[in-house]
Amino acid sequence: MKNIVLFGPPGAGKGTQADILKEKYQLVHISTGDVFRFNIKNQTDLGTLAKSYMDKGHLVPDEVTINMLNAEVEKNPDANGFIFDGFPRTEAQATALATLMDEKNSQINAMVALEVDDEVLVGRLLERGKSSGRADDANEGVIRERIAEYYRKTDILKDFYQKQDKYYGVNGVGSIEEITVRLSQVFDTL
Ligand code: AMP
Repeated sequence: MKNIVLFGPPGAGKGTQADILKEKYQLVHISTGDVFRFNIKNQTDLGTLAKSYMDKGHLVPDEVTINMLNAEVEKNPDANGFIFDGFPRTEAQATALATLMDEKNSQINAMVALEVDDEVLVGRLLERGKSSGRADDANEGVIRERIAEYYRKTDILKDFYQKQDKYYGVNGVGSIEEITVRLSQVFDTL
C-alpha cells in the first residue's frame, strides 16, 4: 500500500497531477479543497463554515479539517493507497494523519513536493481563475494571502517529513507531461 502526500503551494499543480497519478497507480485521490467545495455547492453546514475561511485565503480550522479527512479515508476501506492533495497543511494535521495511518497498520510512504516559484504560482492561479469559477482564484489579493498562509503554516511540513527521510522535491515547472514523468520516477521508487 502506497500513501503519498502530494505537496506544494497553491497553484503548484497538485490536483492536475493527482488526477493522472491516481489512475496510473490505482490510488484513491483525496483533495480536501475539493471536499470543501463540494460542501459549499451543496450548502451544508461544513460548506458554510469552510467558505468563511476559504474566501479570505485562510486555512479552515484543524479540527474540522481533520474530522473531514478521517471520514473521507473511512469511506474507502478497500483502497490500495491514497494520494493526499492539500492535506496535511499544518503540523497538527500531519500528526493526525500519522495517527490515522498507524491505526490502519499503515503509514505515509512519502511527501512528494512540487517546487514552483511564487510569481509563477500567482500567474497560474490568475489564469486558472478565468475559467475555474473559484472565488479564491479570482482576486490577486486572496491568491497572495493563500501563498502567505502556505509559508506561515504549511511549508514547515517539509521538515516534518524530511526528518523521517520521506521528503522528495520535484521541479514543478514544465509541461503537464514532463512533470508527470518526474513524479512517476519518484512514485516508482516507493
Ligand atoms: P485547495 O483546493 O487545496 O487550494 O484549497 C482551497 C482552500 O480550502 C484553502 O485555501 C483552504 O481555505 C481550504 N483547505 C483545503 N485544504 C485544507 C487543509 N488541509 N486545511 C485547512 N484548510 C484547507
